[in-house]
Amino acid sequence: MQGVAIPYIRAVERAGGLPVLLPFEVGRETASAFLQTIDGLLLTGGGDIAPAFTGREGPLREVLPQRDATEFLLVHRALTHGLPLLAICRGLQVLNVALGGTLYLHLPQELPGLPHDAPREQRHQPVHPVRIAPQSHLAQLVQTQELGVNSLHHQGIRDLAPGLQAVAWAPDGLVEAVELPDHPFALGLQWHPELLVEHDPRMLRLFQALVEHARTFQVARKLQEAG
Ligand code: MN
Repeated sequence: MQGVAIPYIRAVERAGGLPVLLPFEVGRETASAFLQTIDGLLLTGGGDIAPAFTGREGPLREVLPQRDATEFLLVHRALTHGLPLLAICRGLQVLNVALGGTLYLHLPQELPGLPHDAPREQRHQPVHPVRIAPQSHLAQLVQTQELGVNSLHHQGIRDLAPGLQAVAWAPDGLVEAVELPDHPFALGLQWHPELLVEHDPRMLRLFQALVEHARTFQVARKLQEAG
């Protein structure tokens, strides 16, 4: 997957947001300038993070080091400026590595048991449950402590980055969602809610939360600009 898959765009639109896409083949200045124009950041799924950033080799898929570099920069700026952030699948892994965490580079080898890499035909189906921390923002949003999710990943969080809080787990103990407690809205999900929004309002709610926080951010930004 070399670009942004259509379901992400549709999910943001369905949630009332205006989807804007950033090419990742840009320099730091362009990426920084882009951040001045948006009110929320969605990090989408995609290939694996390059060994240069994880420090480890593995059976990697679709590695694009330039995308990694751009997304690390975006994450750091988003966190510094309180920009609302929803990070999905690869996005959650980028968030974790950006903040100093580590990954399982290939779950079938490093955490065998529960298959997380479901066939593509099952991308719209819940294939394993996640248990959600009752006090989390995520639990508040989806109004439940157990949720069936789809699962299309062969990597995952090994050591959680300092500052991140795990808020959902698969039955094998793998972290499936994280939050950043000191941030207005920073949520990372290992599953793909964008493929489930049509039939599950709880999945749409996650995108609506991003859009709502983006609106609040926009108001604050405009007030600041108006001086
Ligand atoms: Mn999974």
